[in-house]
Order: sequence, then C-alpha cells, then structure tokens
Amino acid sequence: MTADKIIELNGVKVNQKIIPDGTRWKDSAKAIKAGFEANALYKAQVRMTKVKTVTMHNTEDLDHIEKDAERYVLATYNENMLSTRPHLYTDDIEAWQLLRFDEVGWCNGRGTKNTGAIDDISIECIMGEDAVSDAKAEDNAARLAAYLLYKNNLDITALRTHTYWINLGLGVKGSVDYMNTYKHPKAGKYCPYYILPHWSEFKALVKKYLDELNNPEIYRVRRSWLNAISQIGAYTNLESAKALADFNRGYKVYNSKGKLVYQPKQYYARYVTTQNKVAYKAIPATDAKTMGWLHKGISVVVHLGSDTKATNGTIWVQADYNEQTIWLPLKYLRKEK
Ligand SMILES: [Zn+2]
Repeated sequence: MTADKIIELNGVKVNQKIIPDGTRWKDSAKAIKAGFEANALYKAQVRMTKVKTVTMHNTEDLDHIEKDAERYVLATYNENMLSTRPHLYTDDIEAWQLLRFDEVGWCNGRGTKNTGAIDDISIECIMGEDAVSDAKAEDNAARLAAYLLYKNNLDITALRTHTYWINLGLGVKGSVDYMNTYKHPKAGKYCPYYILPHWSEFKALVKKYLDELNNPEIYRVRRSWLNAISQIGAYTNLESAKALADFNRGYKVYNSKGKLVYQPKQYYARYVTTQNKVAYKAIPATDAKTMGWLHKGISVVVHLGSDTKATNGTIWVQADYNEQTIWLPLKYLRKEK
C-alpha cells in the first residue's frame, strides 16, 4: 500500500492514508454485517472542534506479516475492519494514519456524537508478537500519544484506555486511572489487552515524552560551561550541537544544567585543494602507493592534529574524502572560510 504522504511525529514515521471525505461503503453485504446501511458513509466525517482525550487500544499482531500497521490500513480500505476507524495504527516499525486528527473516529464504542467519540483521538497499538517487537510498538504508541496530548494542550490525565470508555458505559465511577484499568465482569473486552497489565509504566513513558516536548532540552556549544560568551550555537537537537562542536576545535556540548554531554574525540575542519593533480595516499609517506588524484577546489574534511612529517619533510594530514580516509600534503590545502 502506498502512503499519500510520509511525516514524522515525535520520532515516529507516520504514513498518511486518510480516508477521503465522501467515501461510502461499496460492498453492501459487508456494510450491513458491520451494522451500516448499504452505501453509508465509510467514516464519521464529523469535525472535532476540541480534542479532550487520547485513547489507547491494542490489536493483534498478524502472523507472517512484518508491516502489520500497513496491513490493517489495507484491510480498512478493503472493507474488512467492520466499524473500526482509529486515527492511527502503529506497529514496531512505523505508524499509519487513517483519519485527520480533527475528525471523529470510531473506536471506543461511543458512536459518533458522544464524549469519547466527538472529542477523542484513538491509537491502535499492534502487539502480541514477541517481547522486543512489543516494546518497540509500545514505545511508538507512547511517542504518538505524547505528541497528540502536547499538540492539543492536554496533560497526562487526558490519556485514556478503551476500558475507560467501557467502564463509563457500564456506569462505573472513580478516578481516571481506576476507570482506565478496572476490569468489569460485564465488559466484553479488556482493551488495550497487552498494555493494561503494566498501565502505570506505559503512562509514565508517555509522561516522560510529554515532558520532553513541553520542556525541550537545549544543548549549548561552548568552550566551557562557565565561559558563556564562547557559545557559538544552541540546539534542541543533540546531533546538530555535536556536529557544530566537531568542527570547532576546543568546543564541547553542554545540557541546560551545565553538564558536559559531548566532547569530540576528534575535531575537524574543511579544507580545499589549491592545485590540480594532488596525489593522496593511504599512509603519510611520499613514496607510498598513490590511491588517487584530486583536482583543484576539492573539499575535504581534515582531522585536526593529524599532521605528520614524512622523512623528506613534507607535512601530511589525514582527511575524509568520498567516504574514505586519506592522507595528503598540507601544502596543497587551504582552510575553507
Ligand atoms: Zn480497543
């Protein structure tokens, strides 16, 4: 199945395949079996003005299928998922999105107009494969739930389980977490079946991701933490901060509490060749075998501090070029501005 658009939400790859507005059941037998009239609308097609909850579900891993989320979306398009229309399916690899985040889904047995339908986003987490895959699927689900809570200005108390809505329907009263986890003898299912046995752990994971979104860490690139004036960059993305430090000798990366989080083992600088036919070698020696030749104006990444004097006096430096590590004479290089 081909996604219409691929996006990333809080570190999770999300394949969007939104059921188009106006889509209707094609197979009337399947429609009637799912409790609809023939030719009825295939999704609620009702706009949510405000999202108040994010609800977790579990659905079964499919045997011999690697990309389970994709397969569930395909089954939905093939009219084989009865009335289930969640916003997202996620497996251990990636998520698929079936509905916009501002439209009503069908997932909690709450119809189209009730609370829990008119104001909820549902995530189906596909589990039951093995411990490693299940943990990854759960992590993806937690990241998505945190993102949706964050985007809708909600806190962790807005996180729900399908069981919460079942309990509400059965007249159970109590705290959100009691309703999220209480197994009513009359409940037809205990969803999310795989997550509920360790609900507080899952909730803590969602909260951790939500806290990170609300208070993103800022990584500062400085010579030292106390030398604030030396700062040359600040990033929420650690990799960007590391990359800047790598290319500025003496610089390190600190978190917002001043803790050193990255000190380059090797600093780098970009140089260009200043003439044609610069021979480069595997070792810093004039008589070593030539690996190849560089034209003038070729950019290489020099390993600072690698300067080595050959027996004839030539200074060689180590550099990265075209995904290989090479040695070339420093005299044919000029530092890039
Ligand atoms: Zn469910």
